[in-house]
Amino acid sequence: MDTYQRFPLTIVKGKGCWVWDEKGKRYLDAVAGIATCSLGHSDNALRRSLNKQLNKIQHVSNLYHIPEQEALASWLVNHSCADKAFFCNSGAEANEAAIKLARKYAHSKRGINKPVILSAKASFHGRTLGALSATGQSNYHKGFEPLVEGFDYFSFNDFESFETLIKRIEVNGPRVAAVLIEPIQIEGGLNIGDTTFFQQLKEKCLKKKILLIFDEVQTGMGRCGYWWGYERLGIEPDAFTIAKGLGGGHAIGALMVKQHANLFEPGDHASTFGGNPFACTAGLTVATEIERRNLITQVNRRGDELKKGLQKIVHDFPKHIKCSRGTGLIQGLVLHEDTNLTAPAFAKAALQEQLLLVGAGSKVIRIVPPLVVKANEINQLLKKIEATFRKHI
Ligand SMILES: *Cc1c(COP(=O)(O)O)cnc(C)c1O
Repeated sequence: MDTYQRFPLTIVKGKGCWVWDEKGKRYLDAVAGIATCSLGHSDNALRRSLNKQLNKIQHVSNLYHIPEQEALASWLVNHSCADKAFFCNSGAEANEAAIKLARKYAHSKRGINKPVILSAKASFHGRTLGALSATGQSNYHKGFEPLVEGFDYFSFNDFESFETLIKRIEVNGPRVAAVLIEPIQIEGGLNIGDTTFFQQLKEKCLKKKILLIFDEVQTGMGRCGYWWGYERLGIEPDAFTIAKGLGGGHAIGALMVKQHANLFEPGDHASTFGGNPFACTAGLTVATEIERRNLITQVNRRGDELKKGLQKIVHDFPKHIKCSRGTGLIQGLVLHEDTNLTAPAFAKAALQEQLLLVGAGSKVIRIVPPLVVKANEINQLLKKIEATFRKHI
């Protein structure tokens, strides 16, 4: 169907941070399958473990115990604040699970009949109806009403807006079950979560017994320079969702919960494909390789180099660029609101310099290379961005 506005490019092969089109032309990849290919393309360790798994078994369903799923769950629990994992196949699905969990929590633990889940304006939580209703951007809603009821929105990084909204919703007694929020809003324009705001949010949620659920679908698995975005903020959520970077390009998502939010019982929730041996082998290999190769340290080093280079580009092209921002290997260039230049137009122009980029909203150029990106590749990336501004804009 005509769901996608695609770039005029067909990619047929990849290695590390590079991909090739069908004519053999090579591109530097600062998209990484939309922040999914953590280890880059055709990573040797991932190829080896997935080949081995393909030869063993691929899918059995959750009617049975799955050792690969248990191994990945253990790894995630040992490397995060969570105690339990539920596996699914995508970010939206992980958020759907979180929404159901929040509603079950409200009914069973707090006796709330019509629970409300709060999320932030400019958020992005996915395209399925529940996740879409949690997404605080009306342009994604348009044409798909009625939305799922029981959602409302406050302004990101604005504690007063959050408190005002709770007061408005709870005039006749408790109704707010949970907050679903990204530690960094990426699709919504690369808005970095403010530490003070998040700490106030955490305190308020504790006091009011509101579940704090983080959407770490894009920030998680090392991309922001920590394993998890919540670490940067110095707080722990009650639950969080992951997907994108976890499978290194393969379809897997998860809802992670602390013990007190471990509320699903048999029959409450399920997924046919979720947590199958193949996807979990991908997830476990990505996780253990990030750890073994010390990639989080690399993400911070490369992130700093990228940040410095972007600051120079901001300085050199002030007519188009307002500022740069980001953390780890989620970085971006913010374009002026009043220029004609949009992020998608820039990304298209960058193809001429054999560079892959994607927008985060219409005015932010997003830079999310694989976590294995090398120092010289960061240099080339910066040169290609500079050349795009100089020659094609
Ligand atoms: C991409 C994304 C989603 C949706 O994930 P899908 O796998 O496309 O369903 C949800 N939340 C955030 C923060 C994302 O970046």
